[in-house]
Amino acid sequence: MVNAMIKNQISLSKNQKIVLDYIQKIKKPVKAYSILSGVKKSGINAPPQVYRALDKLIEKGKIHKIESQNSFIACNIGDCATPHAVAFSICNQCEIVTEINDQKLFKYLSDFKDKSGVNFKGYNLEFFGVCDSCKAI
Ligand SMILES: [Zn+2]
Ligand SMILES: [Zn+2]
Repeated sequence: MVNAMIKNQISLSKNQKIVLDYIQKIKKPVKAYSILSGVKKSGINAPPQVYRALDKLIEKGKIHKIESQNSFIACNIGDCATPHAVAFSICNQCEIVTEINDQKLFKYLSDFKDKSGVNFKGYNLEFFGVCDSCKAI
């Protein structure tokens, strides 16, 4: 708890705050060009400013990149301790993305070694299936 509070105080630049606010408001994965047009009214006009802010926010664990969609989503766990080790479930039908927070899975992955002895320090996993609300239709 104390750690979480300290982590929340990681300072963000003005641009990073604007970009993070926008992504958090959307509540679903959002592509860079949508972010770009969304933050224009807040005074960020140059694409490099947005890309730089996105890179930093990923580094700080505030947002994650959904590689298969080339989009960005706010961290749902709250400042991931391991921003480069994340897992998501993605619905094939409605494309809803949920960040997976399963300690058993993370423990398995951090203990896992491949045949060449490589330990996985980072991963960006995406699991595909059908979510409950799509199954109900
Ligand atoms: Zn996260
Ligand atoms: Zn669905």
